[in-house]
Amino acid sequence: MPGFTPEQWQGAAASDSQLPSFYSPPANADPSPDGADADLNNDNLSLSIPPATTTTSNTANDNPSPSSSTPSRPSSAIPTNPPPPSLLSPAFTPPSTPGTATPSNALLSEPRSIPVDSSLPTGGGCGSKHPRLLEALPEVRCSVRARIPTTTGAEMFLHLYENNIDKKEHLAIVFGDNIRSKSLDTWQPGDTELERLKRGAYTGRLYPGRVHSGIDGTQHMEEHGQDGNKVPPLVRIHSECYTGETVWSARCDCGEQLDEAARLMSLPSSAEAGGIIIYLRQEGRGIGLGEKLKAYNLQDLGNDTVEANLMLRHPADARSYGLATAMLIDLGQRDIRLLTNNPDKIRAVEGPNREIVVKERVAMVPLSWKGKGGFRAPEVEGYLKTKIEKMGHMLDVEALPR
Ligand SMILES: [Zn+2]
Repeated sequence: MPGFTPEQWQGAAASDSQLPSFYSPPANADPSPDGADADLNNDNLSLSIPPATTTTSNTANDNPSPSSSTPSRPSSAIPTNPPPPSLLSPAFTPPSTPGTATPSNALLSEPRSIPVDSSLPTGGGCGSKHPRLLEALPEVRCSVRARIPTTTGAEMFLHLYENNIDKKEHLAIVFGDNIRSKSLDTWQPGDTELERLKRGAYTGRLYPGRVHSGIDGTQHMEEHGQDGNKVPPLVRIHSECYTGETVWSARCDCGEQLDEAARLMSLPSSAEAGGIIIYLRQEGRGIGLGEKLKAYNLQDLGNDTVEANLMLRHPADARSYGLATAMLIDLGQRDIRLLTNNPDKIRAVEGPNREIVVKERVAMVPLSWKGKGGFRAPEVEGYLKTKIEKMGHMLDVEALPR
């Protein structure tokens, strides 16, 4: 993968003419369409954070970063360069309003979060769009769960779900021991201990010769019912991306985001709250791999980029978010911390009657911007630029590398 030199990145920042040919600038060049942020100056964008890493606790040997140890995600040898300023979202809102506070220094060793509240009339940092939601949530059932030790040393439980609106095997990737599926654990007619062990409806760990699931039918609901004082788990809603996750594509950052979500959820500090990646089987956000590859060809042809992007960034449909909400409810959740750069996702995942409540939004910063590996390519930079400028994604000061 040929890289850009620092001079090229500076050039890209100074002039759109050096952006990849498939990047299509927005019709309205004003970077602050709501006008509220027009007075932002460089001081607002300067870093008030000490050069401490955001991953102090990651120095623990038992949690190496997936980005450095996962062979399937090639790391670039390109030195860390600042992202072009044009990629940094100017879309800040006034301090102390939910959704807008800059995280305090005390939180630097933890995932960086911002309080949000979609019930506030101002939007509470949850974006300006009101997503179309299903009137009723789909029915979901976890049919099997298994422990997966991972290449990073972290362990997770993979939950496979069935549902009543499509035939796909959507997944919940669960970190931590305290998150359980109600539908999996419920005693079913004809259930035997062996059936329960086989589908993963057991407590503790399996071992050779174990014959009891350890669940008596009422016990776990009392043990794991929602506790008012509990720290909400980290949650990521992720759509399957074969190209970005399996065949090393640098056209998008899906693979890196999946790795980073897993890394954050594997931190020792996340152990008690736990973490959940809802992995939806909707390649290219529902358009399918074939259509997605056609969109890539359209981009490489250098024309009709808006149409190509529209195909690629097909709006996620309401069914998918309904599935995610239903799966989170089945996993015993109500309050969550959502890992996303897209504030518009917050209302979508909360469900039609706010069955799930997003308490905080946690930003996902590209690793290469933080000097922690990752990769850089003109394709993914163009893609991120489109995300920020056209889709309301927020990648802000914290993204600046040091
Ligand atoms: Zn992708």
